[in-house]
Amino acid sequence: MPRPKPTRNLPGELALIDSIRRKASAGRASSTLRLGIGDDCAILRPTTGYEICVTTDFSLENVHFRRDLHPPQSVGHRCLARGLSDLAAMGADPLAVFLSLALPARTPRAWVDGLMEGLLALARRHHVPLAGGDTAQSPQLIAADIIAVGQLPRNAALLRSGAQPGDTLYVTGALGGSAAELLALTRSPKQFRNFTQATSGHPHLYPQPHLAIGRRLRKLARAIIDISDGLSTDLTHLCQASGFAAEIDEAALPIHPLATHAERSGLAPSALELALHGGEDYELLFTAPPTTPIPRTLAGVPIRRIGTMGKPKRNQPLIILKSKTGQRIPIKASGWQHFTK
Ligand code: ADP
Ligand code: MG
Repeated sequence: MPRPKPTRNLPGELALIDSIRRKASAGRASSTLRLGIGDDCAILRPTTGYEICVTTDFSLENVHFRRDLHPPQSVGHRCLARGLSDLAAMGADPLAVFLSLALPARTPRAWVDGLMEGLLALARRHHVPLAGGDTAQSPQLIAADIIAVGQLPRNAALLRSGAQPGDTLYVTGALGGSAAELLALTRSPKQFRNFTQATSGHPHLYPQPHLAIGRRLRKLARAIIDISDGLSTDLTHLCQASGFAAEIDEAALPIHPLATHAERSGLAPSALELALHGGEDYELLFTAPPTTPIPRTLAGVPIRRIGTMGKPKRNQPLIILKSKTGQRIPIKASGWQHFTK
């Protein structure tokens, strides 16, 4: 196929890749990354006795982000955060990430620079090199695909299927913040335009993947999943994979202050709904035997005990919410699903 011509806004493919390579200062070898950007393949050398885990996640314009809402730094940050959160949910150490970018010819150079700035700032924070990718012209919309590669001691991965009846169910951080911030962002995008640097308190624009917690949980938890599509949906995945059911306690759910504020200010009808069904919190949901002592905080993040795992009962929903008034309410997976809306 003939290569598309370079445009005024973006430099040609080679120059763009070269600028990414310089910014990533990759190609710099380490004990696990033998070769980074610049050849036909990157070369990774995992630690002896470890196995590799790999995850890929799309960030698509108008599906996962909107150019009129999200600062490009946030798009880059969130793109990488999705991949790193998946590694965290296995208890893995990141080895390297790869970025495939499809850009319309008219994408402003400054937008791509912003995306790379946000992505590389998060990569540096977690000491993970950008070791390669692909760059192509797309007809209309931006697509960024992140591939994250991690390593784990052999057989140490924490799978969704590991939960046992009687396990206690825990969640990190707070829920519903990302959905609440997205509502605020949609209502008044201008107020968010200057948030071009990752700071805490922005669960939608700058979610923090919990790699350090995932690593600590290797020896404590039985099953982990990251909450990317909403508690109701991701807990359903965990229940289905393990073959068990869950009961969660409304009074114990850590509701993000932004979700509470969204309810109080009339932006959302219910903070609880945001916490149950709002996606993209990137908190970790995990189970551990009731006898395992779980610290109140891990890596500075509060850990809350929110319920228990049990045997599924015939004709009963997989998830029951025990309300503050003691009612038992069945919860359906109502978080984000592609191809349904
Ligand atoms: P090839 O045609 O052999 O696939 P490319 O010209 O696509 O090589 O890429 C050259 C080098 O630049 C490779 O190491 C590739 O991994 C890297 N690369 C290309 N695009 C990106 C990107 N968006 N981010 C990071 N590295 C990239
Ligand atoms: Mg290529």
